[in-house]
Amino acid sequence: APAPAPLAWFDGALVPGDTLQAGLTTHAMHYGSGVFEGVRAYATDFGAAVFRLPEHLERMRRGADMFGLPFDPAQATDAVLATLRANGHRDAYIRPLAWFGEGGFGLDVEGHVPHMMVASTATHVHLNGARARLGVSRWRRNPADSLPPLKLCGGYVNSILAKREAKARGFDEALFTDREGRVVECTGANVFMVQGGALTAVAHPDALDGITRDTLLQLTGAQARAVSLEELLQADEVFACGTAAEVAPVAQIEDRHYGDNPVTRELQALYGRIVRGREPAWRHWLTAV
Ligand code: PMP
Repeated sequence: APAPAPLAWFDGALVPGDTLQAGLTTHAMHYGSGVFEGVRAYATDFGAAVFRLPEHLERMRRGADMFGLPFDPAQATDAVLATLRANGHRDAYIRPLAWFGEGGFGLDVEGHVPHMMVASTATHVHLNGARARLGVSRWRRNPADSLPPLKLCGGYVNSILAKREAKARGFDEALFTDREGRVVECTGANVFMVQGGALTAVAHPDALDGITRDTLLQLTGAQARAVSLEELLQADEVFACGTAAEVAPVAQIEDRHYGDNPVTRELQALYGRIVRGREPAWRHWLTAV
C-alpha cells in the first residue's frame, strides 16, 4: 500500500495534507499576501529536535505584521511540534505558511479570511558536500525600500525569475548583485567567503537576515561587511548557507572555478554536529519535539 499522505496542520486541526484546497478568490494566490518559513528538524540522541524554531517564527511574525496578518508565535510553535509528532518525522523540512484567503478580487486584505498551515516532509539526506555552480543573475534582488527582505510569498517571484535564468544557462543557482557590483545573496541562501584564512559574511541591505548566517556568525565571530563581486571572485573559498542548503560549498561562479574548500568543509561538519545536538554548548538552539 502507498504510504499515507503526511498530515498538515490547517487552521487548528491536523488533516491529510493532500485534501487541502484553497478558494478561487484566495488573496495570496492573486497578490502574494502570505508569509512563510523554512525550518528543519533533526534526529538527535535525545529525539527529534527543531533548530532555532523561535528565531524562524519571530521572522515570520515580522512578515505577518507587514500585511496585518494575525500570527501567534506560541500557536505556531505548537502547530510545528504537533505536525512533526503526528507524522513521526525526525529529519524533516517544515513549512509554516500564513496567508490571506477567500474574500473577492479586491486588493485590500480586509474582508479576506486569514489562514495558517504547517506541512512537513521527511528529509533523508542533506546536501552533504554537494558543490554549487552559481550564475550571476541578470535580475536585481528586490530592493529593500520596495519590498522588505522577509519571507513574503510575493517576494519570491524575484527568486523564481533569477533561478530560472541561472538554470537555463546551465548553473544550479543564481547570485544576485546590485547596480554597484556588490554581492547581495542567492535566491534562497546567504553568501560567505574565505580569503587568506579570514571568514567574511556578505552583508547587504537587500538580503534576507538568514538564521544560518547568524548561526555561523555566532560560531566563528566572522566579520560581516559589504563585498564586491570582484572580491568574491578573487576569494579562496565561497559558500552559500541557509536552512535547506545548510553550508554549501560553491564550485564555480560563472567561469571562475574554485578549488578545494577546506574551511567550508570544516564549517559544514561543525554545523552538522550542532543541528544534531552533538555540541552541548549550542543545545539551546534546539527545541525538542
Ligand atoms: N536568503 C533567502 C532569499 C532565503 O529564502 C533564505 C532561506 N530562508 C536564506 C537567505 C537563508 O535564510 P535561513 O538561513 O534563515 O534559512
